[in-house]
Amino acid sequence: MTPELPADHRELMIALSGIVNDYPSVDPEEALAALADEAAEALGRHGTPQGRRERTGYTILLYATCWYASARVYGKSLLTSYTEALDGILATLGPDPCTCPADGGGHPAHLDSEYGVEAGASMLTEAGRAAFAEDRGLAGEAMAVFDCEAFLAELAGRAADRVREAYRRNFGGIDVSHLDARFVRDDGGVDVVALQEAIRRTWENNTGPVALWSARRWLSGQVRDDERIGLFLCLWMGVAQTYAGLPPSYTRDLAAALATVDQDVTCEHPRHPWSTATANTRSRYLAVVHLYAPEDHPDTPVPAELSSRELWECPVQYAELARTALKDVQDWRVMRGGDEEDWEG
Ligand SMILES: [Zn+2]
Ligand SMILES: [Zn+2]
Repeated sequence: MTPELPADHRELMIALSGIVNDYPSVDPEEALAALADEAAEALGRHGTPQGRRERTGYTILLYATCWYASARVYGKSLLTSYTEALDGILATLGPDPCTCPADGGGHPAHLDSEYGVEAGASMLTEAGRAAFAEDRGLAGEAMAVFDCEAFLAELAGRAADRVREAYRRNFGGIDVSHLDARFVRDDGGVDVVALQEAIRRTWENNTGPVALWSARRWLSGQVRDDERIGLFLCLWMGVAQTYAGLPPSYTRDLAAALATVDQDVTCEHPRHPWSTATANTRSRYLAVVHLYAPEDHPDTPVPAELSSRELWECPVQYAELARTALKDVQDWRVMRGGDEEDWEG
């Protein structure tokens, strides 16, 4: 009889393959949280033959999926579940060095991929292992290396480091104070043109830090009247042009700054200047740098009849900008999942 992977593990393998290929067929946050819970639960069987198989399988599965849990989902409880499961696994692994025979071909590689998902799901049971060994043409020592404690400790340690780093990045404090040197002029004013140049250098992934710096400056109250609209537009562009979304470590202050804008306002203006500048990132850039350095940047998409300072400063335009940026932040939350309370200011 041909050995077969048990049906529930086949299902697990398919779900996790979709996730590591960045094309999930199930809710990734839910599936990965369930995986971490199962891994932690299997630790209760530590010391039994089944517990030993499962430790290998879950270590490989957590390792194979940890990049997704770290980079694609902004979930504090998911990362905590991963850390707990991985620390639990590490606690069962001895400090013994690897004793794998050299002719075993070394430790398995490419486990951070679909192959890792297949190997991990297969290692969970005897039947799965037999099917995997047959499919892959592996026998004896080539299979035994998967259970090497030094190998598993290395995988679990690397995954735990990655998850802890993601936790700090996504939920910790982000320090952007070093940007003062770039965005504050000698006279203490905000250099709006320098902020715009930074947003433009998209290859430096600047939009998030610029948005956060702008939000904190806004919240600090150190904003001169003539800087207000420029700084606010830098915040707005930093949000609108961060298509992949920013984690809660950023959005707390972004949302707080946007929430300071009064939404209960009206005006008689048929149009506001920014509505003529939003076609693309270049026209937004031109509109703002023209507003602050018209001699250096004579071109602007904003027509002369809409370029009065009074129109730029209209509270209704601020309200519209704040509303759309808050909507973007809300959309990130839907896209990235995570725990509701972490996104609130
Ligand atoms: Zn080894
Ligand atoms: Zn108005």
